[in-house]
Amino acid sequence: MRDHNFLTEMNARHLWHPMAHPGEMQATPPKIITEAAGVRIRDMDGHETIDAVGGLWNVNLGYSCEPIKTAIADQLARLPYYSAFKGTTNDAAIELSVKLAEMFGPDGMSRAFFTSGGSDSVDTALKFARQYHRLRGEGTRTKFIALRKGYHGTHWGGASVNGNPLFREPYEPLLPGCFHVPSPYPYRNPFDEADPERLAHLCLKALEAEIEMQVPSTVAAFIMEPVQGAGGVIVPHESFMPGVREICDRHGVLLIADEVITGFGRTGHVSGSRHWGVRPDLMCLAKAITSGYFPMGAVLAGDRLAEVFEGERGAMIGTGYTYSGHPVGCAAALACLEETERLAVWDRAAAIGARLKAGLEGLRRHEAVGDVRSEGMMCALEIVSDRAARTMDPARAGRIYEATYKAGVMVRWSGSNLVMSPPLILSEDDADRIVAALDEGLSAAG
Ligand code: PMP
Repeated sequence: MRDHNFLTEMNARHLWHPMAHPGEMQATPPKIITEAAGVRIRDMDGHETIDAVGGLWNVNLGYSCEPIKTAIADQLARLPYYSAFKGTTNDAAIELSVKLAEMFGPDGMSRAFFTSGGSDSVDTALKFARQYHRLRGEGTRTKFIALRKGYHGTHWGGASVNGNPLFREPYEPLLPGCFHVPSPYPYRNPFDEADPERLAHLCLKALEAEIEMQVPSTVAAFIMEPVQGAGGVIVPHESFMPGVREICDRHGVLLIADEVITGFGRTGHVSGSRHWGVRPDLMCLAKAITSGYFPMGAVLAGDRLAEVFEGERGAMIGTGYTYSGHPVGCAAALACLEETERLAVWDRAAAIGARLKAGLEGLRRHEAVGDVRSEGMMCALEIVSDRAARTMDPARAGRIYEATYKAGVMVRWSGSNLVMSPPLILSEDDADRIVAALDEGLSAAG
């Protein structure tokens, strides 16, 4: 490997990074990560940290999952690629569709369509929703409604339903016919309502009012994350998602669950939808489907869609990717999901997540911590400059992030939030170490 200075210089000169300012690469160079094992990563200076981000919310099984590595190597040797467009398929893709139907059967999901990642899954689900209505003779249903603060990837459809102006404004105009309603975020909301249950009720009323305002016969789907991730780990009251399901049903609107983060155990259940006891119509999956070892995603369709797409009114699916059903990705996913089940990582996520939550709650003693939020193994500290006024302080969050990294833990700095989604195989000791390093970071830079 070339030396650090050379790589930093070349990175600034030749490499543009997602969600980063290319002009700042020289002044604030990224950390060059060179190795990983278990739940730990190492940078080029040899500094080792616990990866409390789990890659990017995806490395649920940590970095040393041998069954996934072996499955990838074996599949590469046997069949590195073949298309799954009409006319051909491969055994790994078929096996994976069976495994997903088994895992997500209780969510009402029995059909899989493969993609290369979360953004693909979201755009595919939006298309399926429109096609479903069209096939049923309700082609006027083209609009989408989503939550503010939601994150649904970066393709045009996903960017259009995203609820954060940072990912929208530079690329406008976006897809017409996308509308946003308030997020059930007790710490900050337009109703100044801190009680999660009352807030859920107000947000549900706002959703129904928006559907009525748009006229229900023009609305295709509502898309939501069961727990909003990139928006800052926003955990709705338990009444929220069931309430959404009920409103969608009343108005013939499909419910798309974007489970790109919450799928495969992160909240303490196999899916976030099951966590809240809801059966969506479409589910977007990616990330932990291969624990990050291969770019891969899936859209799952429920019975309502299967009946129409496969029945008399059905028609060709006119969308898909060269890498839909990639045999290596599917083999990686299959091995990953077998391991995910064998380890019952959702139970671990619930247990270790509770321990992490208790530890993080203790950090409220630091003035900089405005809010602590978590569900299973998704957690966030919101950093403020003034607690009473709840003033966001991204710069302070950045300083705490660096100090926490020095103290041995990588968290994700996202605006005024410090976000965590550690591998679900995290030990109790490492959960305590994460809290201790944040404590140190907050004391040093808070
Ligand atoms: N949906 C959600 C809920 C996500 O969190 C993400 C990525 N963080 C995406 C979609 C997009 O996934 P990808 O980055 O794999 O395209």
